[in-house]
Amino acid sequence: MAGEPQDDCLFCKIVDGSIPATIVRETETTVAFRDINPQAPTHVLVIPKAHHRDAAALAAAAPELAADVLRETQAVADEEKLESYRIVFNTGSGAGQTVWHAHAHVLGGRGLEWPPG
Ligand code: 5GP
Ligand code: ZN
Repeated sequence: MAGEPQDDCLFCKIVDGSIPATIVRETETTVAFRDINPQAPTHVLVIPKAHHRDAAALAAAAPELAADVLRETQAVADEEKLESYRIVFNTGSGAGQTVWHAHAHVLGGRGLEWPPG
């Protein structure tokens, strides 16, 4: 069910501590941790603690929680002293989504080309 922890979800396991991660920030509703395969000097994932399959499902089911995630992307950028950065929500396997628990990528610390690949 949306919002409930999923047994087979990697990011639910990071939330409950059963899989370790390098956590950079935590709030009552969100966790931010470093991506295991960083694509930029700063590559942090911001996730809601509650399980939602992607950004659109999160926004539809829990708009305040979606706003918490967005606020945390800015907090990560501030802590990492990023003047420019990119927030990415890959949605669907064709766009590169591989983990089905909503997450914002915060990427920065180098020049970022547009359009992305
Ligand atoms: P997606 O491809 O779904 O947009 O993003 C999933 C991200 O999770 C990828 O960038 C991938 O490197 C990262 N990732 C996958 N497994 C782990 C893990 O066990 N720990 C951490 N910290 N990141 C992970
Ligand atoms: Zn999950």
